[in-house]
Amino acid sequence: MIIYGAKGKSLKAEPFEGKKCAHCGNTTQFAVPVVRYIHIFFIPIFLIKKTAFLICGHCKKQTEAKDFEKEIKVDIKEKAYENTKLFKYFIGLLVIPAFVLFITLVTGM
Ligand SMILES: [Zn+2]
Repeated sequence: MIIYGAKGKSLKAEPFEGKKCAHCGNTTQFAVPVVRYIHIFFIPIFLIKKTAFLICGHCKKQTEAKDFEKEIKVDIKEKAYENTKLFKYFIGLLVIPAFVLFITLVTGM
């Protein structure tokens, strides 16, 4: 039995300047990266989607990056992924062939 599927995860938020909250007018907002990836046995294989949303530091209202104008949307995504390492979402591309090679070598001798 192979356990596989797609999983979504929100990552570490980064402070975002330059946009007021549409709900309360607060200027302290956070850009939150959200990734969606394919996994096999809970090992991430590859990333299928990279999105982001803004969350207000005061009223917690969430607004998806896609709901903003193009320039702001790009800024939000850049800020959200500024300190995010996405390498680990491709780790399965290394681990699984290495595992298959190991099994082949062990059982083939
Ligand atoms: Zn707000």
